[in-house]
Amino acid sequence: MEYVYINGTDLKCSRIGLGTWAIGGWLWGGSDEKQSINTILSSFEKGINLIDTAPVYGFGVSEEMVGKAVSGYGSRDKVIISTKVGLNWKDGKVFRDSSHKRIYEETCLSLKRLKTDYIDIYQVHWPDCTTPFQETAEALMKLYQKGIIRAIGVSNYTPSQMDQFRQVSTIHINQPPYNLFEKEIDIDIFPYCNENGITMLLYGALCRGLLSGRMKSDTKFKGDDIRKFDPKFAENRYGQYLHAVEELDIYANANFKKNVIQLSIRWVLDKASSHISLWGARSPEQLDPIDEIFNWKLSDLEIKEIESIVKNIVTDGVGPEFMAPP
Ligand code: NAP
Repeated sequence: MEYVYINGTDLKCSRIGLGTWAIGGWLWGGSDEKQSINTILSSFEKGINLIDTAPVYGFGVSEEMVGKAVSGYGSRDKVIISTKVGLNWKDGKVFRDSSHKRIYEETCLSLKRLKTDYIDIYQVHWPDCTTPFQETAEALMKLYQKGIIRAIGVSNYTPSQMDQFRQVSTIHINQPPYNLFEKEIDIDIFPYCNENGITMLLYGALCRGLLSGRMKSDTKFKGDDIRKFDPKFAENRYGQYLHAVEELDIYANANFKKNVIQLSIRWVLDKASSHISLWGARSPEQLDPIDEIFNWKLSDLEIKEIESIVKNIVTDGVGPEFMAPP
């Protein structure tokens, strides 16, 4: 495992963090408690010390699983818990609320579910334009000053939204999407974070499983699985993404004796060399490919070759915008 400090803090994080959205079940066709806890515990054996969750993942379920796993593990100080704030829900419908009141309410609920008295990384999940950014920033700054949170973060923020937030509070972390099929942040968010010393927790490194190599043209998804309405999995585009995955897998085999899953994560780690990649997994076995990710690196030329495979095949790409809550 590789480790990196979050800028401006003493938090030393594994460069792969476990993402626990699917563990919450909601939008991933359900989850199983025993398997979820085992997944979190086995991530520690792989050298992962950063677990990313959010109240909205399963409407509390993901945070509860993290709380149970970490308290069972018994070494709270060895785990870096990253959670989020600023979304609310009613009758299964999610909406943004980063008001002062909602932040304090959610903090208390998260601490309870996570069975802890502090949160290592606290991020505003989505920008809420109905609340002044300064109000949200002030609320997080107060939590930080009280020692309830150890690092302040935002997620899905644009540079101008980060500018507004930073008028009141420092930002240690930004959490945007980043993978071989979703590189939109290269334009402005990535350079902004580098220039301003903000560490990124990059989400969706496997593009919701597309870059795992498991997907086939007849793969079916259960229940409320997000991939049923993900435009990359829609009939008109799915074929070109699968074709790109096939070619990436051939490239990974020929050049490194690896598979597309390792190549995809290595690409994130080497493109974003002082940042962190999140890996969503819901079973211990899904984390097995981690062992083959370290002790090799991609050169600048290899990165270019990999990106041109995608560019030449995916001619009608689409971004991750469909995931944004109203
Ligand atoms: P991801 O990491 O790109 O993909 C996760 C999915 O890939 C898993 O649920 C699993 O799908 C599949 N997978 C993982 N390992 C595999 C393996 N070894 N073999 C085959 N398939 C494998 O996507 P993500 O979960 O959306 O993103 C990761 C994390 O980022 C989330 O859990 C969450 O913590 C965070 N996130 C944050 C935001 C935000 O707005 N801040 C948004 C999205 C995600 P199956 O279900 O098919 O098994």
